[in-house]
Amino acid sequence: MVSLSLSISLNPDRLIDGIIVSPQRQLLRRVATISSTSGCHLLRKRSLSTSAEKNRRNKVAAVRMSSITPASHSYDVVVVGAGIIGLSIARQLLISSDLSVAVVDSAVPCSGATGAGQGYIWMVHKVPGSEKWELAMRSRELWEKFSDDIKCQGMDPEEVLGWKKTGSLLVGKTSDEMAVLKGKVDQLSKAGLNAKLLCSNDLKKIEPVLVVGEEGGAAFLPDDYQLDARRSVAYIEKENRKYANEGRYGEYYNQPVTGLLRSGNGKVEAVHTPKYSLYSKKAIVISTGCWTGSLMQDLIKDSDIKLNIPVKPRKGHLLVIENFSSFKLNHGLMEVGYIGHQDAILQPNNLDSGYDNHAETSSISMTATMDTLGNLVLGSSRQFVGFNTEINEKIINNIWERAQDFFPSLKELSLKDLEKTRQVRVGLRPYMPGGKPMIGPVPGLSNLFLAAGHEGEGLTLALGTAEMVADMVLGNSCKVDNAPYALHA
Ligand SMILES: Cc1cc2nc3c(=O)[nH]c(=O)nc-3n(C[C@H](O)[C@H](O)[C@H](O)COP(=O)(O)OP(=O)(O)OC[C@H]3O[C@@H](n4cnc5c(N)ncnc54)[C@H](O)[C@@H]3O)c2cc1C
Repeated sequence: MVSLSLSISLNPDRLIDGIIVSPQRQLLRRVATISSTSGCHLLRKRSLSTSAEKNRRNKVAAVRMSSITPASHSYDVVVVGAGIIGLSIARQLLISSDLSVAVVDSAVPCSGATGAGQGYIWMVHKVPGSEKWELAMRSRELWEKFSDDIKCQGMDPEEVLGWKKTGSLLVGKTSDEMAVLKGKVDQLSKAGLNAKLLCSNDLKKIEPVLVVGEEGGAAFLPDDYQLDARRSVAYIEKENRKYANEGRYGEYYNQPVTGLLRSGNGKVEAVHTPKYSLYSKKAIVISTGCWTGSLMQDLIKDSDIKLNIPVKPRKGHLLVIENFSSFKLNHGLMEVGYIGHQDAILQPNNLDSGYDNHAETSSISMTATMDTLGNLVLGSSRQFVGFNTEINEKIINNIWERAQDFFPSLKELSLKDLEKTRQVRVGLRPYMPGGKPMIGPVPGLSNLFLAAGHEGEGLTLALGTAEMVADMVLGNSCKVDNAPYALHA
């Protein structure tokens, strides 16, 4: 498989054993490399040498390069990770500046959590006044603007992004759950959102197949949205690629980042993959989802830098029944128990275990959407089982049974009969113990930024996160307070 789908060589610096030989500047700079390529970690320092010695080394280096050095390319910004977060950051930089941007991924877009995302762009389960509220509101506004721009260009956002104002229903069955939903509606209304509490009868009128019992009902936000994560990613990627014609965009897929190149003053100059050294003049952004914690540990392993990046994988399954015709859903739905299930915290002993003891904590709550292609998407599970992405049939059966509790007509169908039209999506959410992502400069490594840990909200928060990162890189003031997301040494 060809690993480089698009690449542009801008100001190509060349790397030999941790020394940068720049054709433009023709001088050897003092650099230190931290590299984990082939498990071999290098940390070297070289000083400026005499010009005769320089010439000799350049000649030797030119010979050695052809056989051992990776190809080097240089950009203003290098974004590591092509999930919804990384691709959105690249997009924001491309549309709001004249900087050149490279995106590098160990696989391809949608191979991480993004490919499994259900597509809620929702406020109904968010908490007004919480640290994440402002970012979520801004992000939703940016998604609305994105879809409006697509419309202005004569395209249909429903086709392009799977974008639809379905409204959201957070449903409960008991009087206790209704009390929680009433509190939510009051809070959301006070925050200025259009929110309604629906009793069982009202709910039946707008979502006839849903059964919640006489005591039940829902919090309804008519202005919430849904998108298709894969189609949205494909569109963002296509838009980003348009900048390749101007020499401002490059994609490096199937290229795991394995090392960093630092200059003597601690500035991160480049990232290494097995085939490439990608230099950055302005910033390197690490947006590698649930892999961010382990990747960063690997990258700084042989340095004296101490960082705590506690992002962990939280596995999720979704069950998709394609071309579902037994009933239609008019809204996006989620049981109110989802909130507790999302906020559930991994116990410290599990965090420390490195998952080796299989201390699996799992939970399932009902989520249901019908995408714009007519597929019924049922979720969802949350498990801490390390980086395992195998399909667990027990979990799928539990998701199906939980859905039947809310949609009894599903009991007339058997999962076995749906074998041919059934698909399972598995993704690893980037879980953060504090429940909010890390977005900002990495202490001790100038030029390096991080944007990761969006757990179950990465699609929702992507555009707000991208704007925040772009503003930081460009030195603009951020539209949303970035302090809650800052990284600390
Ligand atoms: C079942 C499920 C349902 C969800 N539903 C929703 C929803 O309805 N709404 C919502 O807002 N969110 C939802 N989410 C959450 C959302 O999908 C994630 O928060 C989001 O996709 C995270 O995006 P990301 O770009 O940070 O990570 P990812 O999509 O995981 O991307 C990270 C990328 O980094 C790459 N990478 C890793 N290591 C390296 C390396 N060494 N070098 C280079 N590249 C590397 C990976 O290949 C990957 O492509 C859901 C998640 C799941 C699992």
